[in-house]
Amino acid sequence: MHVCAENSNFAHILTMQPIQGIYPFLKDSKNIVITVHQKPDGDAMGSSLGLYHFLQTLGHQVTVISPTNWAGFLNWMPGVHDVLNFETDREKSLKILDQADILFCLDFNILYRTKGMEKPLADLSCIKVLIDHHQQPEESQFTFGESNVSKSSTCEMVYDFIMASPFAEVLDKQMAICIYTGLLTDTGSFRFPSASAQVHRVVAHLIDLGINHAEIFDNLFDNFSESRLRFIGNALLYRLEVMYEYNTALMAIPGSDVMKYNIKTGDTEGLVNYLLTMEGIKFGALLIDRKDERKWSFRSKGNFDVNQFAREHFYGGGHRNAAGGRSADSFHQNVSHFKKILGKYQEQLQ
Ligand code: 5GP
Ligand code: MN
Repeated sequence: MHVCAENSNFAHILTMQPIQGIYPFLKDSKNIVITVHQKPDGDAMGSSLGLYHFLQTLGHQVTVISPTNWAGFLNWMPGVHDVLNFETDREKSLKILDQADILFCLDFNILYRTKGMEKPLADLSCIKVLIDHHQQPEESQFTFGESNVSKSSTCEMVYDFIMASPFAEVLDKQMAICIYTGLLTDTGSFRFPSASAQVHRVVAHLIDLGINHAEIFDNLFDNFSESRLRFIGNALLYRLEVMYEYNTALMAIPGSDVMKYNIKTGDTEGLVNYLLTMEGIKFGALLIDRKDERKWSFRSKGNFDVNQFAREHFYGGGHRNAAGGRSADSFHQNVSHFKKILGKYQEQLQ
């Protein structure tokens, strides 16, 4: 059954309805697409694959479409080889999107974060469901959904979605492995304040379902190249600038380093966290000169709101203490722009 036409009235609902409203639609077989933000991380991949296995078990036709490629260190995940990359499987992806009865959008809340998929997604008239934990969602785009910034990860929300459904008994080890991946990566290995008592209860349940948490950690964090380790060494030695008057550390990686060390998607994940390991540093900013854009990662401790900072200056967003952004300007323009605007925040950073 193709519910798009039948439920085209959904296109006119401007407020997102509570996510429970989607459960009745899952009672019989549907064509479902799950999508995530570009360059999906452990939480985006974990939540989409966890939901993929769940919906498949319920008998739906499910496809995960990623807007771009993803980090190689996620390629061990159950179901990852079924994921389509919109950039390289464009025609097939568009066809599947066209057939979709339901679209799930996971771990992002603004369509532009899906890069080339932004317009095809906006044009779809089928039911759209949001599951996300970032600030300031574009709610008018979604029929049903949950946006909850207090959640550690989208994976935690997918767990809640499964457990609150009439189908909770199908939760199995495969789904648990995927869900654990995002809980682990989005909480910085359970060290961020978001790693609540409930997160640990969820983990206990996932371990009871048979996951091997030590193996998952090893798959994610102990499978990099020698070249990546030398790249990090070089960055810490030569690309780090500490501005004590602002309690800020900036690491700016030129494109020549990316080339020299053969740095791939995912190889720089976690690098920004080194900046906050210095005593007194409240704001860490990492700039990477990628081929098609300059990519910023921002992290903070305490009250300094990097979501706001990224939104105001670098077309980005995210969370209060972890956000990202991007720019089409040159590497050097980005560095000088950053240093110039930092002055405005001296008081907040004291
Ligand atoms: P990262 O620095 O790891 O790329 O991103 C940190 C957080 O900010 C993640 O939750 C990520 O989803 C979010 N984020 C990264 N880049 C952007 C962006 O360009 N726009 C928005 N809205 N969020 C972003
Ligand atoms: Mn996330």
